[in-house]
This record gives sequence, structure tokens and C-alpha cells, in this order.
Amino acid sequence: MLHTISNFDRIGEENAFAVLARATKLASEGKDIINLGIGQPDFKTPEHIVEAAIKALRDGHHGYTPATGLVECREAVARRMLSTTGLEVSPENIMIMPGGKVTMFAAILMFGEPGAEILYPDPGFPIYRSMIEFTGAKPIPVPIREANAFAFSAEETLALINEKTRLLIINSPANPTGGVTPRSEIEKLVKGLEKWPNVALMSDEIYDVMTYDGEEHVSLLTFPEIRNRLILLNGWSKTWSMTGWRMGWSIWPDQLYDKVRKLAVNCWSCVNAPSQFAGIAAIDGPQDDVTKMMAAFDRRRKLVIEQINAIENLSCATPKGAFYAFPNINKTGWKAKNLATALLEESGVATIGGPDFGILGEGYIRLSYANSEENIERAIGRIKTFLEK
Ligand code: PLP
Repeated sequence: MLHTISNFDRIGEENAFAVLARATKLASEGKDIINLGIGQPDFKTPEHIVEAAIKALRDGHHGYTPATGLVECREAVARRMLSTTGLEVSPENIMIMPGGKVTMFAAILMFGEPGAEILYPDPGFPIYRSMIEFTGAKPIPVPIREANAFAFSAEETLALINEKTRLLIINSPANPTGGVTPRSEIEKLVKGLEKWPNVALMSDEIYDVMTYDGEEHVSLLTFPEIRNRLILLNGWSKTWSMTGWRMGWSIWPDQLYDKVRKLAVNCWSCVNAPSQFAGIAAIDGPQDDVTKMMAAFDRRRKLVIEQINAIENLSCATPKGAFYAFPNINKTGWKAKNLATALLEESGVATIGGPDFGILGEGYIRLSYANSEENIERAIGRIKTFLEK
């Protein structure tokens, strides 16, 4: 019997990967599976980005880079932040990370320990809670409510902060709800945080360009008063359809930057060099493919809302961001995870049960519309038939 530390008894995971494995297995057995479970764009990485990585390898860029990332890549991120937020960010505060997830890993490790409290959105990305539990800190869910269009409430968030709070995690546009928190609420939160100068913030803005209906994405970076305690998480995975490249970036305040740099040196050394060259090409190259992808997502979003709302006992709030819909299934009488399992096993439609994103996810399932319009129509047709049985 080996004695690993007890932290590993508390670490969780992302059920989306288990659903993907099950859906793949069913498909390999010859079943016709439509996947609305997966949280990655179904588009290919744009050609010029792929070419940049190939060229980098051919040019001999196969070695280690600085742990913080190539300076050219960090400068590209600074240009990106200037164009999306209008703000100057020093490359000296930017880290190139092996995916968006690693920023939350680093941030939560930095602040979590027994006795500390960390606030995170519920329903929300499951790794937040999993990592908080891993560190031994107490996870404090911040409720994200349908009645509030799945935006977070500044008042409710602030009411949960106390002397033990070390870190507050926020996410807009949000997974799994598609909610986007409006400027007024973010301003209220930042104002309220004046009272809590020792609370750090991690703002997960990985879906920053993915908003619809003219909805504004407000970056926490645009508030100078919290800049010295803000960790901003972003990356290439969603915007440029690069999930498997493992490319993320984060912006760290001066007082934390050396800690995350050392963590990188101790763990991943650096992000692979050709991916960093691809990342530069993604930022500096043409953005037509991103525009086309977003137009396709918007068409699918409208299709999902219209068709789900036409099914008796289902209702779906209009998601304003990301590429997820989070329909309310309460009236069907099903428990969400049971329904997600039954839909996959009996109707061949992969979705994720809301409780995989937190306690408050009960009563909902997550549909990712990273699939073709044709498949979305077929999948929702099957859901309708299943529920009418
Ligand atoms: N943050 C949120 C809210 C996400 O939904 C995801 C991926 O699904 C990530 C971070 C992680 O992104 P990456 O694949 O770059 O690690």
C-alpha cells in the first residue's frame, strides 16, 4: 500500500472528458452519436497558424524557450491586450502557459491551503472547485442564477467575502451557462472589493471574444484599482480553435510574477516552441477565420434556443456568450445527470448534466453547439422524441 498525500483523495475531474470517452466508445461500436458535450470548437486551426508551427520546426525552433515564454510571443500577447482592451500590458507581466487551465492551477495553488477560503462560480468550470479542494482550502460557491441571466451578482459575491478569503474566481463569458456579466455589475464588484485589499482575483476571460447580440465583454484588466492583485486568464484554445496545442497566456501582478515563473521552471519548463510561434501567427495574422467561426456559432446558438424552447417542458435562456446553452429541464421530472446519461445511451446524443458544473447545476444540462447545424437539428430532434416517449 502506497501512502500518497490526502490531497489526492479530494482532487476531482472534468466529466466532459468521461462523456467524450463514452461517446467515442459508443461510436466505435457503430452507434450514431451526435456530440453536444464537448467544449471545443469544431473548426480546424486556421491554416496560417499551422504553417507557422511547421516553419518554426523546420527553422530549428525545437528547444527550450524561457519559462515565461518567448519574448516575441509575450509581446504578441501585449499587442493583443492592447487591441482588445485598449490597455498597455508589459510583456514582463505576461506568462505563456500550457493551456488556459494551467493558470487556474497555478493561481489556486498559490492561494489555497487549509483555513483559507476561495470563492468560485457555481455552476462553473469544474476544475476551479477540484483544485481548491486539492489544496485543502474551503471552496465557497458563488451562485450563478438563471433569474439573473447567468451573470454573477456583485452583491451576492461580496457578501461571501470574509477575513479568510484569499482568492475570488470569476468567469465571464461563462462556461457552462453562456452568461455574460454586465459592466454595471463588474463595476459594483470592483468598488466593493476596495474594502478587501488582501483578496486576490482570478478573472477567467478565455471566452472574451465570444459574445453575441452586441453584448460587451468587460475585462477586469480595465480597472486599474485592482491591477496589483488581478490574475487574468486567457489563451488560444477557443478563439483560434487550438485546444490541443495547449497554449494559454496569463497576466500576473508584479508581486506574483516571480512565483509563477518559478512554478513553471519546476513543472513544465516552457510551452513547446513551435506552438508559441503558432500563437504569434494567430494574434498577428488575419482574423477572418475567427469572424467566420463566430458567425457560425451565432447561427447555431439561435437554432438551439429556438428548437429547445419548442420542446414541451424544456426552456432555454438566451446565452450571450461562449458556445454553450444551459436549458432548464426541471419540468421534465428528470434528474439532470440521469437525463444526460439516458440521452447518450438511448438516443445517441452527448450532453453534460448540470451537476458536473456544481451543486446549483441540478435542473440543467449543458449543450455545446460546437457541431454543425445539421447535427444540432438532428440531436435536438432526438431529445424531443426521447422526452415525448
Ligand atoms: N476556462 C474555462 C471557463 C473553460 O471553459 C476552459 C475550457 O473548457 C478553460 C478555462 C481551459 O482551457 P484550456 O483548454 O486552454 O486549458
